[in-house]
Amino acid sequence: MEELLQQIDAYKKEIETTQISSLEELEEFRIKYLGTKGVVKGLFGEMKAVPAEKKKEFGLVLNDFKQLAETKYETAKETTVNDQLPTLNDLDLSLPGDAIAVGSRHPINLVRKRIIDIFHRLGFAVADGPEVEDDWHNFTALNIHENHPARDMQDTFYIHQNPDWLLRTHTSNVQIREMEKGKLPIRIICPGRVYRNETISARAHCFFHQVEGLYIDEHVSFADLKQTLYFFVQELFGKDVKIRFRPSYFPFTEPSAEMDISCLICGGEGCRVCKHTGWVEILGCGMVHPKVLENCKIDSNKYTGFAFGMGIERITMLLYQINDLRLFSENDVRFLRQFTSAS
Ligand SMILES: [Zn+2]
Repeated sequence: MEELLQQIDAYKKEIETTQISSLEELEEFRIKYLGTKGVVKGLFGEMKAVPAEKKKEFGLVLNDFKQLAETKYETAKETTVNDQLPTLNDLDLSLPGDAIAVGSRHPINLVRKRIIDIFHRLGFAVADGPEVEDDWHNFTALNIHENHPARDMQDTFYIHQNPDWLLRTHTSNVQIREMEKGKLPIRIICPGRVYRNETISARAHCFFHQVEGLYIDEHVSFADLKQTLYFFVQELFGKDVKIRFRPSYFPFTEPSAEMDISCLICGGEGCRVCKHTGWVEILGCGMVHPKVLENCKIDSNKYTGFAFGMGIERITMLLYQINDLRLFSENDVRFLRQFTSAS
């Protein structure tokens, strides 16, 4: 007991003479005296060795000691923390500020914006729709029959079956939703993300971006479609680019076509990018199938329309000569930084 009291006295003297002038010293002090393995805790642990009749007296001494350590800590904390704060005299308002790190637009966003801007000038408004869609809006209303391979589990991500809910495989669901609203004429483009159950490679991904367009009015013809797309291509790729249409088949358009542009790399001479044909496919298009119009309660005898759709990744890869689709979603800043000055 005597020995313990002497020890406490020694600690008291030590505390009184301890100088604390930095946050590190403050933390050292806290750990030494007030920490879980500190002096105060240790001394309280000695209590059990003190004879019963002395316990009260020893307890009082201990509490005093604890308070001393705590007061010292609190006072020192107040002064050291305050000392660390800059005062008005430390501030030099003429110093340059910290630069704010500015990122760059993602190439997909850059190209999407350019596409939207071009169609905007032709009077197309942007329309949006859900990415999780039901069977009707993604398949049935678009005349995609029951045995079409796109409906297969291997090609589409299903969220739920019977009734079917899935991640949309194209942005055509937005076209159906707009047509169902019944407000004519319709002149929209639908940019958005779509999903396919594909093995990821340099050429394919399980998600990508599309822009689809739809124009429905009285007397809309294939000539309107050609002229619209020709204008678009010249605005995006330049005045020298040529276009050609090849007959194709889609369930939701009739007639249907694929559109090629003359190769941007070789100008039509033939190179690796165009597989030595001089042409590069960029989109699918056609006149909206009368059955699709009727599915959306639009009179197909009175109204006609055209639709087209393209992958934004594909256009971006052509514009910037990017050879791997995966680069768009890997978030590698070395890739993304190359687009800092693009607009
Ligand atoms: Zn070429």
